Amino acid sequence: MEDLVRTVVREDIRALNAYPVPSAERMIKLDAMENPYALSTALRARLSSTLGELALNRYPSPSASQLKHQLGALMGLNDTPAMVLGNGSDELIQMLALAVAKPGAVILGVEPSFVMFRLIAQLAQVTFVGVPLDPDFSLNGPALLEAIARHRPALTFLAYPNNPTGNCFDAQTVEAVIQASPGLVVVDEAYYPFTTYSFKDRLGHYPNLLLMRTLSKLGLAGVRLGWLCGPVEILAEIDKVRLPYNISVLDQAAAVVMLEHRAELQTQVEAIVQERMLLAASLKALAPVTVFPSAANFLLFRVPRAGQVFDGLRHHGILIKNLSQAHPLLYDCLRVTVGTPDENLAFLDGLSRVLDIQ
Ligand code: PMP
Repeated sequence: MEDLVRTVVREDIRALNAYPVPSAERMIKLDAMENPYALSTALRARLSSTLGELALNRYPSPSASQLKHQLGALMGLNDTPAMVLGNGSDELIQMLALAVAKPGAVILGVEPSFVMFRLIAQLAQVTFVGVPLDPDFSLNGPALLEAIARHRPALTFLAYPNNPTGNCFDAQTVEAVIQASPGLVVVDEAYYPFTTYSFKDRLGHYPNLLLMRTLSKLGLAGVRLGWLCGPVEILAEIDKVRLPYNISVLDQAAAVVMLEHRAELQTQVEAIVQERMLLAASLKALAPVTVFPSAANFLLFRVPRAGQVFDGLRHHGILIKNLSQAHPLLYDCLRVTVGTPDENLAFLDGLSRVLDIQ
């Protein structure tokens, strides 16, 4: 069997580990930037009656026009913009990488940032160039512009706000990157619900700007739906890479129902933003902890012996994310997703115990 695997599977794929998703059974799960709140009973009832009436013997609607209309409305746009839907924005990243994957092509990003940009580039056999952020996690404008001039990337990814750092980059530097780029620039607004500024008003100003959003952080991580907006000519090409029927009947219908009731999700988002502020203040009050500013639904913090702190928290039944080995700039860094008030208190309590500073 080993021989068979070695013969047929690419060497770089054999060297990879599958994307790690740790078990969170019976744990307080604060590792994956999910919305911690449950839906109201009324919305649950509405969902189940809608899903119960679906014809699952048929392929999903290829145009998904009802869903796209709702997504346009969610973006605050009167006219539904052109968009390509993905099974999560992960799938859109994959479509983009496949669409530009010709010999010698480069995909550019900053690091640390969302790991799938580099991983998917590698899977598509495209060279990935990661320009380091400054130690305070801001963009290094001159280094980025120099890398763009040198590598002439076909595709550049910038997450706004950035994951795992949580900050929003300087918007003028982002625009300078868009202007200087000979290729496509994707501004990944996965965490838009928790911030204020969007590049959506810049769509149409730049022929190479694409905007990527997802429903995952809004409360629908289980639905798997991302969307990409931008010039129709470019979207038409990306659409050729998309597998037919990539968004299931169930996902489309669930997303439409939820978006019709988006006020409920918006209330949850407001609670998360409020809790983020309280959690940041409480974390800052813990002596050896440095908390980084966040415009997202998580906080990055630095604490001495982060690996031990992470293990200690897990021992107390609290799962967060250990990033201390992920990138040199993230030394001793951990990331916690904002949970419900009770979950956040349990996390703070666990952390105080682990740090032994009760
Ligand atoms: N972009 C960023 C910046 C993210 O952090 C994530 C998820 N962690 C995604 C995209 C992917 O989101 P999804 O595939 O759930 O839409």
